[in-house]
Amino acid sequence: MSTDAVVFHILAYAIAFLSLLRIGLWAYRRKIVLLQSQALIDLKSLNKDFADLSHRPTSVNKTFSRTVSSKAKFDNFNFEYYAAECMIEGKDDFIKVIENLNQQKRRYQEYVLRYESLRDLKLKTTSARRLRQDIFNKVEHRIFSHKKIKEYQPSLKFYFMVTYTSPKGKNHYEKHISWDLDAFQKGLSSAIETANKMSSETFQRNLERSKMTRTLRYKVLDRDGHRCKKCGRSPQDGIILHVDHINPISKGGKTNLGNLQTLCADCNLGKSNRYID
Ligand SMILES: [Zn+2]
Repeated sequence: MSTDAVVFHILAYAIAFLSLLRIGLWAYRRKIVLLQSQALIDLKSLNKDFADLSHRPTSVNKTFSRTVSSKAKFDNFNFEYYAAECMIEGKDDFIKVIENLNQQKRRYQEYVLRYESLRDLKLKTTSARRLRQDIFNKVEHRIFSHKKIKEYQPSLKFYFMVTYTSPKGKNHYEKHISWDLDAFQKGLSSAIETANKMSSETFQRNLERSKMTRTLRYKVLDRDGHRCKKCGRSPQDGIILHVDHINPISKGGKTNLGNLQTLCADCNLGKSNRYID
């Protein structure tokens, strides 16, 4: 062996020996501190109480897909609308998903509060035996940080996909957007808002329709002389009379004498949902 090789070997052994010594020393100190430190004993039981936080739930992945019947529909596909539709449809399940994630988050916050109060109250309070106090405190602090349960970052990914296959399967088109947790939470709450608004509008409409009674209908016909307010014809001319909302219910019109008029079927159907001029 050359001198260089000998020096190299000695150095390599020395480094290996020193690192073994370091590891051994660390393990020795760690053992002493773990046995004595009140902060670490308490942390161990705290972590046990919150053991469910270390079992990370599986991430949520979901794909919604729709097939459209033409290339034009594929090109103009409205993802925003489609996503809202999916959200409204699966609303109850999605609310549960969000609640679970939020509950997990709250539980972690509770853990952090207790971890921090333990740190402030108990760390550095143990009088060290068989170890210098400053070394004891340093090791204790290191283990205390290391043993903190890490925060779980829930992963959630929603894919909204649209596909189109040309006749005879010649060409296949596919595109998608994806939502993360943030987009999902925003999308869900705006979809719920839309859904609530929709159902309250439907409710208002049904309420107005239900106010149209036989008596009210007769009052309107009587007031208008049993003639169409637009063309003036009466049932003697072989037409059918309708009682019509001047301002339609769908546009907020009320069911009362002031907003009702007599129209023949022809004039009424021609009018549809537009305002009469
Ligand atoms: Zn008429």
